[in-house]
Amino acid sequence: MHETRPHGRDVVAALRARLQHAVRESVRDALAVLLPVSCSGCGAADRPVCPSCRAALVPAPRRIDRAGLAVWAGMEYAGAAASVIGAFKDGARTDAASALVPAFRAALLAALAEVSIGDPVEVCTIPSTSAARRARGYVPVEVLLRRCGIRSTPVLALAKERADQAGLGEEERRLNAEGGLVAGVGARSFGGGWRPHGTPLARLDGRRYLLVDDIVTTGSTLAEAVRALTAAGAETAAIAVLAETPRRFPRHAGTSRETLRDIAAQGGYGGRTGVVDPPFRTG
Ligand SMILES: [Zn+2]
Repeated sequence: MHETRPHGRDVVAALRARLQHAVRESVRDALAVLLPVSCSGCGAADRPVCPSCRAALVPAPRRIDRAGLAVWAGMEYAGAAASVIGAFKDGARTDAASALVPAFRAALLAALAEVSIGDPVEVCTIPSTSAARRARGYVPVEVLLRRCGIRSTPVLALAKERADQAGLGEEERRLNAEGGLVAGVGARSFGGGWRPHGTPLARLDGRRYLLVDDIVTTGSTLAEAVRALTAAGAETAAIAVLAETPRRFPRHAGTSRETLRDIAAQGGYGGRTGVVDPPFRTG
């Protein structure tokens, strides 16, 4: 029998990789001809995310504290990353999803690394408001999860329709989110997020969840999800989000006569003046 040449397998693998690359490139070119594509971050021609915007999406997982919760975020929601995420979430640019997956996956892995070994952990997400679902036609965080090969368990549902969180200060966000979610077995099967009052849900005693969302701002929505899971008997084992909205004091804080009380009156740390609000709905 013919003997395989040394490193024959390596040569074949390299060739295959090169061919696959060539096929991808030609498919991309063909798509660009059929359907002109522009960068979802900056508008540059030809790619869903151009190399320069892609560089802003490099995973930078960090553990942050929001609303008293430890949250793993894959990157900061700022600059070109904010433009791409905004286009993905509310500009129907689902073609940008693959560029967001590395940071998202990094956050999931970092969060899971903190989970104690024991009972299995399921993934759950926070349902969108029905207005957001109608407007988008897709659920951004679920799109990202599917790209990671993960399916979420539909255990969280809206207990009431709430206002959009965007544009609200920290306290307003907290009040708006409060009591907004219920948790239970099959909670999401009621019309995709909304369930009628009084319908009992089976409890989640002993179940553990990795709670996942796309963007964290004040953390009030995540806190409400944790509260609902806890009330249903479940444990929130860890929390991961794609990106965190950076918290900033007003630019002149500390350099003028403005006191902490003034800052609090304006919405406080992370309040109306401290939160860089996403330019899109957050539900
Ligand atoms: Zn770009």
